[in-house]
Amino acid sequence: AIGYLNGKVISSSDPVLPIDERGHQFGDGVYEYIRIYNGRAFMMDEHMDRFFKSAKAIKLNLGQTREEIITVVNDLIERSGLADCDVYMQATRGIAPRNHLFPNVPASISMTVKPFRAMDETLRKNGAKVKLLPDERWQNCWIKTLNLLPNLLAKQEAFEAGAFEAVLVRDGIVTEGSSSNIFLLKDGTLITPPATKHILHGITRIAVLDIAAELGIPVEEKEFAPEFIFEADEVFLTSTGIEIVPVTSADDRVIGEGNPGVMTTKIYEAFMKRV
Ligand code: PMP
Repeated sequence: AIGYLNGKVISSSDPVLPIDERGHQFGDGVYEYIRIYNGRAFMMDEHMDRFFKSAKAIKLNLGQTREEIITVVNDLIERSGLADCDVYMQATRGIAPRNHLFPNVPASISMTVKPFRAMDETLRKNGAKVKLLPDERWQNCWIKTLNLLPNLLAKQEAFEAGAFEAVLVRDGIVTEGSSSNIFLLKDGTLITPPATKHILHGITRIAVLDIAAELGIPVEEKEFAPEFIFEADEVFLTSTGIEIVPVTSADDRVIGEGNPGVMTTKIYEAFMKRV
């Protein structure tokens, strides 16, 4: 697959990152993941907003304008010849001898464009299992940083327990999935945790809130305890990669009727019309 590093188009398998690259040494960087549907990036503006916000939050000057980055992405997509693909972009604080203090070097920007990695569609049909786990991350989960170790550990633990996703709980309150946002339906109202510092402000989350408004579904962005999940009529997860996936059990307890919910399906269909 195709790749990009600091102005050069390369192969995504080229061994290009020096050992002193700060993403490798420290996870000192931020990233984005954008889905391309039929040659067109979905919600590119929102992804760029978040990329620049994340970079600013870690005091990283990207050294490129959003227009320049969008031009690179579109050029890579065209070169890849792929209609449905995944674009990952990473920005790090560059390449400099290892030192915790910031170096005075340009940011390093890399990207890959790979064929869309489809998830198992039976999950969409039958619903996914989730496992509740403690949210062990730092206080600034809204920044999309490269430091994903607590997310990886939670996802792996959920997987080993036979679940598709870990749903994280901080101080008795549900935050989000290890790589997704969470939504509940209760008595016709769509409920999701508010976009505080403790969750990633998902782009798919934005789309779903917009769809709910369009469909006239009442929305409440509010905190809830994990027990609330078991009382919900429907639960679903959202992310760029999985789009919208119904959840039918949590900690091996069945949610609702144990089937993907009617409203979830409706929202998913509206989402697919947008992409
Ligand atoms: N929360 C976390 C922790 C994530 O890693 C992701 C996926 N990047 C999401 C939520 C969903 O965000 P998005 O809809 O922008 O993919």
